Amino acid sequence: MPLDPTSKQKSRYDILFEPLAIGPVTAKNRFYQVPHCNGGGYRDPSAVAEMRRVKAEGGWGVVFTEQVEIHQTSEISPFIELRLWDDKDMPMLAKMADAIHSHDALAGIELTYSGINGPNLYTKEVPLAPTAGPILTFTSDPVNARAMDKDDIRDVRRWYVNAAKRSKACGFDLICLYGAHGFGVIQHFLSRTTNKRDDEYGGSLENRSRFMKELVEDIRDAVGDTMGITIRLSLDEAFDELSFSNSEMRECIDMHSDLPDLWDLAHGTWEDCSATSRFKDEAAQEALISGIKDLTSRPVVGVGRFTSPDTMVRQIKSGLIDFIGAARPSIADPFLPKKVAENRFEDIRECIGCNICVTGDMTMSISRCTQNPSFMEEWRKGWHPEHMPTKGTSQSVLIVGSGPAGLEAARMLGGRGYDVAVAEASSDLGGRVAKERLLPNLSAWGRVMDYRLGQIEPMANVSIYRESHLTADDVLGFGFEHVCIATGAQWRRDGTARFVLIPVAIDADMPVFTPDDIMSGQMPSGHVVIYDDDHYYMGGVLAEKLRQNGCTVTLVTPVTMVSEWTVNTLEQEFIQKGLLDMGVEIITTHKIASVARDHVDVSCVYSGQIKSVAADAVLMVTARDGNDGLWQELKQRQDEWQGAGISSIKIIGDAAAPAPIAWATYAGHAYAMDMDEQAAGDEPAFRREVARLDPTPISSIRKA
Ligand code: ADP
Ligand code: SF4
Repeated sequence: MPLDPTSKQKSRYDILFEPLAIGPVTAKNRFYQVPHCNGGGYRDPSAVAEMRRVKAEGGWGVVFTEQVEIHQTSEISPFIELRLWDDKDMPMLAKMADAIHSHDALAGIELTYSGINGPNLYTKEVPLAPTAGPILTFTSDPVNARAMDKDDIRDVRRWYVNAAKRSKACGFDLICLYGAHGFGVIQHFLSRTTNKRDDEYGGSLENRSRFMKELVEDIRDAVGDTMGITIRLSLDEAFDELSFSNSEMRECIDMHSDLPDLWDLAHGTWEDCSATSRFKDEAAQEALISGIKDLTSRPVVGVGRFTSPDTMVRQIKSGLIDFIGAARPSIADPFLPKKVAENRFEDIRECIGCNICVTGDMTMSISRCTQNPSFMEEWRKGWHPEHMPTKGTSQSVLIVGSGPAGLEAARMLGGRGYDVAVAEASSDLGGRVAKERLLPNLSAWGRVMDYRLGQIEPMANVSIYRESHLTADDVLGFGFEHVCIATGAQWRRDGTARFVLIPVAIDADMPVFTPDDIMSGQMPSGHVVIYDDDHYYMGGVLAEKLRQNGCTVTLVTPVTMVSEWTVNTLEQEFIQKGLLDMGVEIITTHKIASVARDHVDVSCVYSGQIKSVAADAVLMVTARDGNDGLWQELKQRQDEWQGAGISSIKIIGDAAAPAPIAWATYAGHAYAMDMDEQAAGDEPAFRREVARLDPTPISSIRKA
């Protein structure tokens, strides 16, 4: 029974809706969307603005931009963030502030000078940092920063003030000075790891925090009468023994307790702060933040992948934090605050902590979310996380398969008003997610099916049929107008994927397993060689599972690191360390050559030299093939569709082309949204913004 928002009924969640001042402005509640990237940035400004607007509509009291580069001498290309280099960048930022204000949220802008983190690959300017040294980036660019002298420090302070004034003119209410995750120059000054200066900006903590103090004072003088000024710091840099540690950070806040209008505290590196659910639970930074509120009278924000309203209430009531900081929970469910306000807890689309959203930034593409397929499609496609367009002229849809693709299609089509039947071959619903959620530390992934089944359950127009393995004859006999084939995929057994394209010679006496075998309960024993040419999580997760089951494990991969693609989910270091700690032998840069009765031959990808690895069993984690047999047969019988009353049969998700779970939920969502819509034809099915050409003739800027 939803709460009547006009009633005065007391709720234990009321505390989450108490307003709180941040300097001269007041947030209407405690839901604080901390800055987060989205892979769109300056390239897709309207897409980012609409994404932020939807969060404000969903009830977030504070909504921030991603990091905004304040000056051309410090940028982090190839990563795509926002820029505020001159007035030309203002209209796109003003559009974001307006979008956020349209629902009474405070609009925040995160101003960043990247210092030792900015390689300037685009602007070709020499990077500036507190101390000279190689640029510290994900991509190890072969570039160094020059040490700032006093004139440079004065320049950087002025550039911040310029950016602050422009932020005010754009309409923002809050400025966040970014000094966390190793990405902002404030942290580079604070940390003895990156600040080895011997002038008044180096040495003692007082000296190392001088730049931060001057910056806040400069900006307060310029815009502090109308804007709240916040500082975002790392709770524990944890890089080496000179790092800006949790205890030093506490000393710093004690020393400058009321300097900013709010302290925004993030965990150490981005990897620590945005750790996946595989490695960290909700509220994981509690110990690091505990007691900090005693050091300041200013409000404190903390993050922790908060999706449980009870945990949020406890965080505030126990005096740990004042605002519930959230990036990923706000991506997975932009309407989380409204759902809490209306006691609609069962409707909360909980983040699963997979970091697929982060991969959009890391791959410089555009972000997507496993749980919320409308993320970053709000403007491009007009999708909304809560609104479903009413149904078109068709009436009935048969969905074959209840994995993430089939369930998302069913949720959306059911919500739109179609009569939907879901046929699932097995007795369990959820497809791959039902199995993968049982693997070590992946239980949160089960939220993908739990949320969708919870939403479908009350829909009288959606029926689910278990243990219903459909054939082409079945499909043609039912008479549904539309048929969606979402039959998933299965792992290959022959060793082929990326580095090996021809099936490997395998001795018939060697037991060969696939991830499907392991997930259905068949377990190898003894010494197992895992050959991983998939490079995402499955190889590492199964190595862990086999170790738990007492196997000796050697993991062979043709690339230079285990689970290489998880660099993009910020997990790779945790995975490789974990496997080494649990005694998994790791052989990199080798591909599978052949499998004998008692060993596996692997060859160096550079020299071709063969190495033999003793084995009692082999586990191939290579590639998946779509289960498209049903689709192929129905295609061949296309001339029977009309007589069977079928207007369309489409194949979606892993059955069409295997990919991570987020691709499947996206495919299910797109299928349902496109139902009864005109096909896009040869044009892109989404909007995009193309750079406006500068009409200035080249002759006017080229010197004679
Ligand atoms: P996706 O990620 O694309 O949703 P999954 O592999 O997770 O794919 O789910 C596919 C589901 O389809 C599985 O639960 C599987 O049992 C089911 N399935 C496969 N073939 C058939 C079929 N012919 N009839 C009914 N269900 C099927
Ligand atoms: Fe959460 Fe995964 Fe969505 Fe990111 S992609 S918000 S981690 S569910």
